[in-house]
Amino acid sequence: MTATTAVPVGTSNDEGVEQSADRTDWVAAIPFFGVHLAPLAAFFVSVTWQDWLLCGVLYVTRMFFITAGYHRYFSHRSYRMGRVAQFVMAFGGTTAVQKGPLWWASHHRLHHRYTDLDEDVHSPRDGIWWSHVGWILSTKFKSTDLTTIKDFSKFPELRFIERHSWIGPWMVAVTCFLIGGWGGLLIGFFLSTVLLWHGTFLVNSAAHLFGRRRYATPDTSRNSLVIAIITGGEGWHNNHHYLPASVRQGFTWWEFDPTWYALKGLAAIRVVRDLKDPPARLLTQARVVDGAFDIGMFRSHWERAAKVTGAPITDVRAQPTAAGDVDYQSEHRTDVATTASPTDEPLSDLSGLMCRALACADQLADATRRNPQNATVTTTDPGPELTAQ
Ligand SMILES: [Zn+2]
Ligand SMILES: [Zn+2]
Repeated sequence: MTATTAVPVGTSNDEGVEQSADRTDWVAAIPFFGVHLAPLAAFFVSVTWQDWLLCGVLYVTRMFFITAGYHRYFSHRSYRMGRVAQFVMAFGGTTAVQKGPLWWASHHRLHHRYTDLDEDVHSPRDGIWWSHVGWILSTKFKSTDLTTIKDFSKFPELRFIERHSWIGPWMVAVTCFLIGGWGGLLIGFFLSTVLLWHGTFLVNSAAHLFGRRRYATPDTSRNSLVIAIITGGEGWHNNHHYLPASVRQGFTWWEFDPTWYALKGLAAIRVVRDLKDPPARLLTQARVVDGAFDIGMFRSHWERAAKVTGAPITDVRAQPTAAGDVDYQSEHRTDVATTASPTDEPLSDLSGLMCRALACADQLADATRRNPQNATVTTTDPGPELTAQ
């Protein structure tokens, strides 16, 4: 049995972008909203401080399985571990009730490959509701494109976990009930699950809307201390989009990143190994403060302006060409062939002009995506216009 057929989670087209309609699946959404309502029933049962402690412990531990496991390991392979530890990390991730590791990681890889483009699964350019929750409830992203996650879908135990991702949540829920009765179930399990969901979702929505940008990435990612505190270090999202294969997301001592601290601890006792640190020389490149052109925000603003004109938006991308540092930064990204040229656009009116400029911005953004040095300015001999900033 091949990896492709082992997990009955659907198919996609050759480019790894699902094409089905993006309607909200309201029937499947009933359990989602039901989980949100469940904690309210705690008003009618006795709740102890142990139930609140259970809620906190389950929030922190399950968030770690998502950030260290689903995200930094299964999505980005930013460190390594043995097969048993990998199994534990995958199973632990399922307890967060965010589907299986293959579904989660494959969609996240698509987010990095197509950030803020039409193929992005949860870009806030399609609305904050869509990026936060809408995409999860839609019919469009129910299946898993195993071609984007071949490196892990080859493991039969991971495919088993993927097929039976309900086992983990049920085990945790039953355990909570046995420990704390209804209070343990409603506060310990359901409330922590709701908080966990929205903490995770904030990275997809708010971390592309609110915060500062250190690096001139071709997307709208931001750095946010608040989101980093909520998510165990995932709030340094601009850092992460700049160097997605880095196990660290906080690049400075003050950028709070407890997931990285925990992984360092696990590396010390040899549960995990080969943690990928960001190359020091890349940390000082492509910084907006040094004068790098912020193509990501330029493109975002210009795209919005172009939409106001009512003109069709053309995404222009080119074949990847670079290696070395580029591979490090875009390890899981593959670009598609050029679909149009800015010179193909008619320049007959304002909307045509806007589209032409946006196409050029797309090309520049894509060049930055493939080669971070496109956004780099020299830091060895900065001119007066750079030192003044
Ligand atoms: Zn992102
Ligand atoms: Zn990521």
